[in-house]
Order: sequence, then C-alpha cells, then structure tokens
Amino acid sequence: MYSSTISSTMPGTCQHVPACPSANAADHDAARVVSRHPEQGWSLLCNGVVVFEDTGEILPDGRTIAPHRPSCRLAGAA
Ligand SMILES: [Zn+2]
Repeated sequence: MYSSTISSTMPGTCQHVPACPSANAADHDAARVVSRHPEQGWSLLCNGVVVFEDTGEILPDGRTIAPHRPSCRLAGAA
C-alpha cells in the first residue's frame, strides 16, 4: 500500500522528504518509483524520469538515455 503522499503526485513535483534527485542529477534514477508497469517493462520515477527494465531512460524533457547496464539476467546466475 502506498501512502496518500503518492496519490496526487505529479511527475516532477516531490511532495516528500527527502526530495528525490532532479531529473538532471547524476543519480536521478535513485528517485522514488511512483508508477510501476512491469508488464510493459518500465517505471515512472517521482522526478518524471521513465526507467526501462534494460536501464534505458527517458527524461522529462524528452531526452533518452541508452541502457547503461548489460542485461545479463538471461545468463542464469542461479
Ligand atoms: Zn520524489
């Protein structure tokens, strides 16, 4: 269950403390996830950044960031 802080939070507006890193910050992907869509492979962060399963990202200003982590999940580390 999410707290009521999340319910009306718009992307780009932090209503909690500590505030998330901004979309332009180096650690922007450390922001809180406000909307998760695992079936589609992406999540919306509190700062408006969309992060994909393969670590690719779309920033609120429309810029895209290529996946920066090798997707080696299929290698079967188990
Ligand atoms: Zn936030």
